[in-house]
Amino acid sequence: MRGFVHTTDPVRVVFGTGTVNRVREEAERLGARRTLLLSSPSARSVGPVRASLGPLLAAEFAGAAPHTPVEVTERALRVLRESDVDGLVAIGGGSTTGLSKALAVRTGLPQIIVPTTYAGSEVTSVLGETENGRKTTRSDPKILPDTVLYDVDFTLGLPVAMSVTSAVNALAHAVEALYAPEVDHVSEDRALEAIALIARALPQVAARPSDPDARTDLLHAAWLAGTCLAAVGMGLHHKLCHTLGGSFAMPHAATHTVVLPHVMAYNAPAAGEVMRRIARVMGVDDAPGGAHDLIARVGGPTSLRDLGMAETDLARAAELATAHPYPNPREPDRESVEALLVDAWYGREPGASSRGGPGAAD
Ligand code: NAD
Repeated sequence: MRGFVHTTDPVRVVFGTGTVNRVREEAERLGARRTLLLSSPSARSVGPVRASLGPLLAAEFAGAAPHTPVEVTERALRVLRESDVDGLVAIGGGSTTGLSKALAVRTGLPQIIVPTTYAGSEVTSVLGETENGRKTTRSDPKILPDTVLYDVDFTLGLPVAMSVTSAVNALAHAVEALYAPEVDHVSEDRALEAIALIARALPQVAARPSDPDARTDLLHAAWLAGTCLAAVGMGLHHKLCHTLGGSFAMPHAATHTVVLPHVMAYNAPAAGEVMRRIARVMGVDDAPGGAHDLIARVGGPTSLRDLGMAETDLARAAELATAHPYPNPREPDRESVEALLVDAWYGREPGASSRGGPGAAD
């Protein structure tokens, strides 16, 4: 018998379709009588949440922004205090969840999150914030949302491009969990299930974006992958994406999508068994190549250049992402990580520069 240690974070999860009608009931369950409804300027699904909250809605703040800028949090805090709020409700992607967490850690207020992407942040006690161009991360039990209300209906209209990048963001949580030093059976099972669901459902969503079954599978996978992110530490892939997002303002999910196959190829020589298990559940021969092909097949981004990254920033990004040691199957040395980023910048096949094959020098 293989022993293990597993911590399950106490998040109440309500999953289904039409669950938005239960926001008020969940708020009452948490003892909230005056809630602040958070969203982003481009949010489209606020109406049904507003309607569900009814008299429990005290104020709204629609200014959530990517990478949780501290100055946005401070503006939301002023609204919160002026309105004498006793609970937070957030509808949107990881950016809106981030704002809710930033307010919760400062006030201790209970949170209900209604996620509309596959980011997974809603089940973690981790908060990344940016101030003066630097992203810092912290963890605190107050950051962990109390209730997550997944409503598949809100994801039916998530544009395909965003669905693809967000689902690969979830895929990245599952992949990196599998080679985390502290991973246990529970997280392994969840990670493999999430990968299998994403590999199957993502092409279905790309072909038929409002397919309710495929959307249910993707949202289910996002939750499973999020719990992996919450349970174990992440490796090189998350470190790189964190650096590219926080220090070079790169878009979160799209950056994950470009970088993931390259990090998988980088780690493959030191994580052979993990890559074989990933390949098996994806139904492919080779995990990094399979991830790359899946992303290309559903029209996802494959090059950092196309996402607007300057080639001259690659060396600095590699330096920042390797400045401090952290667990990763293969040691991330600055030179190899820069080569990986160059591959990702040009949109080459994963592992191209380490093989030195054709296309590695273009
Ligand atoms: P996002 O929240 O910035 O959303 C991207 C865009 O999609 C926004 O314009 C949003 O309005 C729009 N959108 C969201 N849902 C939609 C829907 N259903 N239909 C149409 N448009 C919709 O992006 P994201 O990728 O969800 O989240 C990224 C942020 O989350 C980053 O700041 C990242 O650092 C953070 N994050 C944190 C954790 C954690 O555990 N702390 C985990 C994952 C992501």
